[in-house]
Amino acid sequence: MECTAESVAEAMRAVAAVVVEHREELNRLDREIGDGDHGENLARGLRALESKLDEVPSSPGGVLRLAATTLISTVGGAAGPLYGTAFLRAATSVGDVASVDGEAVAAALRAALDGVVARGKAALGDKTMVDALTPAVAAAESVAVTGGGVAEVLAAAAEAAEMGADSTVRMVARKGRASYLGERSEGHLDPGARSTALVLRTLAGRAR
Ligand code: ADP
Ligand code: MG
Ligand code: MG
Repeated sequence: MECTAESVAEAMRAVAAVVVEHREELNRLDREIGDGDHGENLARGLRALESKLDEVPSSPGGVLRLAATTLISTVGGAAGPLYGTAFLRAATSVGDVASVDGEAVAAALRAALDGVVARGKAALGDKTMVDALTPAVAAAESVAVTGGGVAEVLAAAAEAAEMGADSTVRMVARKGRASYLGERSEGHLDPGARSTALVLRTLAGRAR
C-alpha cells in the first residue's frame, strides 16, 4: 500500500472534477447562509491546480505544496487561505519522502486541522469545516494506529467527515459570514464542512 506523487496528483485531479461537479450544490449551500460563492471559489482554485499538474512534482509533499500555493493565490475569501493552510501543513507533515503510508496520511490530516484552527480560530461546534475535519482526523488516527493503510485511513476519515458535516445543520454559526445570521444560520448545512467531506470522500475513493 503506497501513495506516490503520481497517485496524489491523480487524486487531486479527481478532487477538482468532483468539486466542479458539485459547484452548484456548494454555491446553493453558501447562498443560504453566506454569499453563494463557495463552489465557485473552490472550483476556480482546483481548475488552476489541474492545469499546473500537467507537470507532476517529484514527491507527494510537492503535490500538496503545489495545491496549497495554487489555492492560496486563486481562491480568495475565507476558504482560500484555510484550504491553502491545510494543504501547506499537510505538505510539511509528509516532507519529501517518495511515498506515504496510512500513518503519514493520518499525521498529515492532523497537521491540516491544526493549521485550519491556527488560521481561522474556529472551535468544534462553530459550524465550519472544522466540524468535518476534527472527527475525520480522530477516525484517521484510530485506524492508523492499528496499522491501517492509506485507503482504510482515508475511508474512515471520509465517513467521519460526512457525519461531522451533517452535524453542522443543527449548529448556530459562530465564525465566518454565516455568523452574521446568528440563530438564523441554524437548519442549514455549512458549505465548507460539506466541501471538506467531498474532498476526503474523493481522496478515499482514489486510494489503493
Ligand atoms: P467566503 O465566506 O469568504 O465567501 P467561502 O464561501 O469560500 O468564503 O467559504 C465559506 C466557508 O469557510 C464556511 O462554510 C466555513 O466552513 C469556512 N469558514 C469560514 N470562516 C472560518 C473559520 N474562521 N474557520 C474555519 N472555517 C471557516
Ligand atoms: Mg462564500
Ligand atoms: Mg465570498
